[in-house]
Amino acid sequence: MPIYYYDEAILRRKGETVTRFDKELARLAEGMIAKMHEAEGIGLAAQQVGYALQLCVVDLRESSADYNYEYNGARPPKELFMPLIVINPKISIAEGAVESPFEEGCLSFPGIRGEVIRPDRIIVNFQDERGNKHIIKCDGLLARCFQHEYDHLQGILFTDRMLKPMRALIEPEIKALVKLTRESKKKIP
Ligand code: ZN
Repeated sequence: MPIYYYDEAILRRKGETVTRFDKELARLAEGMIAKMHEAEGIGLAAQQVGYALQLCVVDLRESSADYNYEYNGARPPKELFMPLIVINPKISIAEGAVESPFEEGCLSFPGIRGEVIRPDRIIVNFQDERGNKHIIKCDGLLARCFQHEYDHLQGILFTDRMLKPMRALIEPEIKALVKLTRESKKKIP
């Protein structure tokens, strides 16, 4: 399972709604979790491994970041519900949320980081790999991660959300990445 780098076309495809919660889906999600861990990421979207689906995985267990969350109305230790398999997510902005800046990275943009402004408190409704429904209210890094991954599922990348001066600052790195991606594609017969 390779990770697709910018500017592979798959990264721009909106994911299809998942309707079949079968073994194949569970296997794909498990593969994505393994890949995310291998790449030391905190989130990975289906598009990043070549599938245009409303599916992403999230795992913040290794992060020391402080954040609040409510999982299905309770506050279990994160070890009990992470890694998360997030299918068909819908995000709404929580009451009292504030737009805040934070430096993000992305496994499809190796080594590139940049500040993005997003609401700091959200509510996520989603399904797991068996089709069961869940709701998470959260802030901080978890809210940030969900929004970044949700964007991937719509074909939106974090560089799209950067303010112009920020985007201009990393433009040389992005251009170099595009060149590398296109050259590596040419080598494949
Ligand atoms: Zn990303």
